[in-house]
Amino acid sequence: MGYDLNRFRGPVSSVVICCICQSVLDDPIQSYACKHVYCRSCITPLFNGTTANTNEGSNTPASSSSSSSSLSGNTNNHSAAAASQQAITCPKCKKALAPSDLEIPKSVKTFLSNLEIKCDFASNGCYQYVKLEDLGSHSESCSFNPENSLTCANNCGAVMKRKETATHCCLNYLQSVISERDAYIDEIVKECRELKSENRRLKTNNGKLKEEVEKQRDEIRKLKSELDSKKGLTSLLKFDLLYSQSKAVSEEHRNDFG
Ligand SMILES: [Zn+2]
Ligand SMILES: [Zn+2]
Ligand SMILES: [Zn+2]
Ligand SMILES: [Zn+2]
Repeated sequence: MGYDLNRFRGPVSSVVICCICQSVLDDPIQSYACKHVYCRSCITPLFNGTTANTNEGSNTPASSSSSSSSLSGNTNNHSAAAASQQAITCPKCKKALAPSDLEIPKSVKTFLSNLEIKCDFASNGCYQYVKLEDLGSHSESCSFNPENSLTCANNCGAVMKRKETATHCCLNYLQSVISERDAYIDEIVKECRELKSENRRLKTNNGKLKEEVEKQRDEIRKLKSELDSKKGLTSLLKFDLLYSQSKAVSEEHRNDFG
């Protein structure tokens, strides 16, 4: 289905009218034989529901990237598609029409791309006319597109889709912001409480550990002094032993030479 004639500025040439829907051509496609032109979406369902093949060469305008990609997709399974496509006649002149008879009319496409059309969202308040080739990009960024976001005109801070503005209430929005913040504050207070109790528990544990360390130190000190006193005793015993040994040796010598 093409574009409504009333959306265009001034009278529209019959050259860009679809033979099937009588609207301004959308993605035009032309019969090689009879030169009649149709919207792609109007002629393709007639070929038994399959997409029509075209004699597309290097003449695809830059603005039709979406249609050219769909066409290149068809080239791969061309034979399978052609087998299931039935021969039809041109809806305008009744001449036989095969999918292979179709081509993209370069001049018609160029002419179309320069026509000025009313924005898709004219009924929402956009009274801009844009070139047909720019319609897609304009619609995407148009501030009257119901899917596009905008900030509340009353400065409540809400960002919403244009289609939501009718049901937007600043008071409700602000209340929801406040309750969200309250919930956030509750969460933080709860976290603080948990951290404090964890801190108390760690402090108690720390005190216990300090006591334990002090006890171990006392124990070590005690063991050290015990060891020191045993060392003194050992050296005294060693001295006694050496003394009695030397005494025995000198006794022996005296007996030998005496
Ligand atoms: Zn059409
Ligand atoms: Zn025809
Ligand atoms: Zn617009
Ligand atoms: Zn608001």
